[in-house]
Amino acid sequence: MAARIPVLISRNPYEVIVGHDILRRAGEFISQVLPASRCALITDSNIAPLYAETVETSLEAAGFEVTTIIVPPGEPSKALGFIEDVCDQMIEAGLDRRSAVIALGGGVIGDLAGFVASIFYRGIPHVQIPTTVVAQVDSSLGGKTGVNSRKGKNLLGAFHQPSLVITDVNTLDTLPKREFNEGFGEIIKHAAIRDAAMLEDLLAETSPDLGELISRNVKIKARIVAEDEFERHGLRALLNFGHTIGHAIENAAGYGRYLHGEAISLGLVAAARISVKKADLSEESAEKIITALKAYNLPTSLPADITTDTLLAALSRDKKFESGAIRFVVVPELGEAFVSKDVTEEDLREAIES
Ligand code: ADP
Ligand code: ZN
Repeated sequence: MAARIPVLISRNPYEVIVGHDILRRAGEFISQVLPASRCALITDSNIAPLYAETVETSLEAAGFEVTTIIVPPGEPSKALGFIEDVCDQMIEAGLDRRSAVIALGGGVIGDLAGFVASIFYRGIPHVQIPTTVVAQVDSSLGGKTGVNSRKGKNLLGAFHQPSLVITDVNTLDTLPKREFNEGFGEIIKHAAIRDAAMLEDLLAETSPDLGELISRNVKIKARIVAEDEFERHGLRALLNFGHTIGHAIENAAGYGRYLHGEAISLGLVAAARISVKKADLSEESAEKIITALKAYNLPTSLPADITTDTLLAALSRDKKFESGAIRFVVVPELGEAFVSKDVTEEDLREAIES
C-alpha cells in the first residue's frame, strides 16, 4: 500500500506518494495530475541504468512521449552551462510550454530538473521521483530548486513546487552505504526540531522500517512547507538547524570532501552544543543527537586541518553578524526549535572547538 501525504500549500497543493515498488506505476500516478504530453525524464548516469527504463515504460503506457536526458552524476552538473545544454536538448526534442519535466534521482537531479522546469518556456510542471534518502525526506519537497553560480552553491534558483512527488522506498536498496547514511543527517535534524519520539526510536532500533521512517519525515517537512512556503514566517527557517555551521564546513572543506549530510552532521553537533549554552537544552539531550549521528556513521568531530578561523570566515561570508550576533536555530528541548538572535562569534568558536 502506498501512502499519500498532502503538501497543503495554498495554491496548487500536491501529494507525495510513498510506497514500495511503485516506480512502475509512475505513469499511472502522473497521468492523474498532468495531461499526457511530451515530457523530459531527467536523470544521471548512475541512476539511468537502474531505473530509467521502468519509469519510461510506465510513462509511455500512460500515453506520455518521453525524452530521456542523462547528465553526469554529482554537483558539477548543477552549473548554468549544463542547464542550457539540457534546455537545448529539450527544445530539439520538440518539448514546449505544454510539456513536463520528470526528475528521477537524488538531490542534484531534483534541484537541476526543478530549476529547468521553472525556466523552460517561463515555467512548466514537474514531478519529482527522489531516489536518495536526502531527496526523499528533504530536497524533493518544498519547491526549492537551484543551481550553482561560480561564486557559490545554490545561489541561483526559484521556488517551483512539483505537481507530484513519487517516493519509491525500494530505490534506496541500490544506494551506496555512505549516501544512505548521509540522509540520516536530515532525519536526525527533523527529529531534533520536531519529533523527539523519532529520535528515541532511532536510538532504539538498529534497522528501522524504512517506509514508515520516510513517511514520517515527509509529513514533518510537508507540514513546515505548507505553513511557510516562501520562508517568510520563520517556521521554514527552523529546517536550517545544523546548516549554518554545516554550510560553512562545506565551504571550508571544499566541495566533494564531505557529502551534504555529513557536513550537516558536524553542524548538528555544534548546534546541539550551542543549544545547551543558549537555550538550556540538557546535556543528555545533546548527547542523544550526537549518539544518533554516530549510529549512522556520520562524522561528529572536525578534522584537524579545518581551523575555527577558516570556518568562521566561511560562515561570515554568508551570514551577517548584527551587533556581534547572528540568527541561529537552537533547540531548547528535543522536538522544539526557535531562532535565537544572540549567538555570538564566541559561542560559535566555543562550540566548534569543544
Ligand atoms: P543527494 O545525496 O544530495 O541526494 P546526489 O543526487 O548527488 O545527492 O546523489 C548521490 C549519488 O548517489 C549520485 O552519485 C547518484 O548518482 C547516486 N544515486 C542516487 N540515487 C541512487 C540510487 N537509488 N541507487 C544508486 N545510486 C544512486
Ligand atoms: Zn540539508
